[in-house]
Amino acid sequence: MPAMGREVLSRAPARPETGPVHFVHESLPQRVRFQTGDAAAAVTAEVERLGAARVMVIAGSAEGELADLVTSGLTPVLRHDEVVMHVPIEVAERARAAAVESRADAIVSVGGGSTTGLAKAVALTTGLPIVAVPTTYAGSEATAVWGLTEASRKTTGVDPVVLPRAVVYDATLLRSLPVELSVASGLNALAHCVDSLWAPQADPINAVLATEGARALRDGLPLVAGDPAGLPGIELALYGAHLAAKAFASAGSGLHHKICHVLGGRYDLPHAQTHATVLPYVLALNAPNAPEAATRLAGAFGSPTALAGLQELRSTLGAPRALRDVGLEEADIPAAVEDVLAIAPPSNPTPVTTENLTRLLQAAWAGEEPQ
Ligand code: NAD
Repeated sequence: MPAMGREVLSRAPARPETGPVHFVHESLPQRVRFQTGDAAAAVTAEVERLGAARVMVIAGSAEGELADLVTSGLTPVLRHDEVVMHVPIEVAERARAAAVESRADAIVSVGGGSTTGLAKAVALTTGLPIVAVPTTYAGSEATAVWGLTEASRKTTGVDPVVLPRAVVYDATLLRSLPVELSVASGLNALAHCVDSLWAPQADPINAVLATEGARALRDGLPLVAGDPAGLPGIELALYGAHLAAKAFASAGSGLHHKICHVLGGRYDLPHAQTHATVLPYVLALNAPNAPEAATRLAGAFGSPTALAGLQELRSTLGAPRALRDVGLEEADIPAAVEDVLAIAPPSNPTPVTTENLTRLLQAAWAGEEPQ
């Protein structure tokens, strides 16, 4: 997602040697620590570095034990556990009021994208700095994007104040993630890589992050699926997920994210599973008109084509296959198409039409082989 006011000079991640070089790339300021098995020490150090003394801990009740572990070196003034996916505005307001009432001076969030999202909603109005400790591969911790849901409509925006000042990755915290969720969340991360390659602010630098992220996820996710508590696989997948999120934060939302945003916001579909299901259909639509992206992905997957590589990985992982299995009704497709068309990036490699988008969603709904 681009920073506000960002100048857009390039539309494709062309390598500098392929022609005149014109692009603007912005790197977000953030400390990142990979500290397997030692999140508590890392979090304590990052809170001290911020000079904070009154920490608000945000962690859903399901992640309560993980949060106890991670914050064992702190004496928080507040523990907030009301976390809801897509951050309903009333949930955000209660967390904001609790932060102000407790006079918190920093937030430590421990959880997946929903938890990080709530911390960002609090930071948006209070300006409090966040130390984020992710427990999924969603990647929200590395972006300045916030999201709030009001009356079933999800609104997103970009504000540097919500970017966590520090992120602590500890692979041991993801050992408890159920394997289906690891797979879906890992493919959500892979979607950041794929979509970044043709997103509106794609450039040669975020293309490198996306490509290396895809390679790490291709190698790491099968290890996680085979041994969900094994640290080498989780570490590799977390590394890939971080690169993926950095690429996405810089390149912005491509067609894939626009489709999933509409499906998640309007029909309340589960975030990670929706991304995991839709991705091959968007890749099949765009690859013929995005040869450099397709070549990069094929290389990252070690496969003759990008789509074959993605499908082989999805089959190894037992990935979710059809939108009808995650709650979409076939009758919802025409309205979803209309909503996506209204926000589809004009720079998408394959021009988006009612016809090709309808075909895409029908195939994804039924779980047909992407063409
Ligand atoms: P989530 O945070 O809702 O977590 C999914 C489920 O996994 C929850 O039930 C949670 O309790 C459980 N869980 C999390 N970590 C666990 C662990 N280690 N062990 C066991 N269970 C665990 O889902 P998500 O996919 O991580 O995040 C989705 C949300 O994040 C969406 O709202 C999405 O829009 C947002 N998101 C935002 C950005 C951004 O840049 N702003 C990027 C990606 C995702």
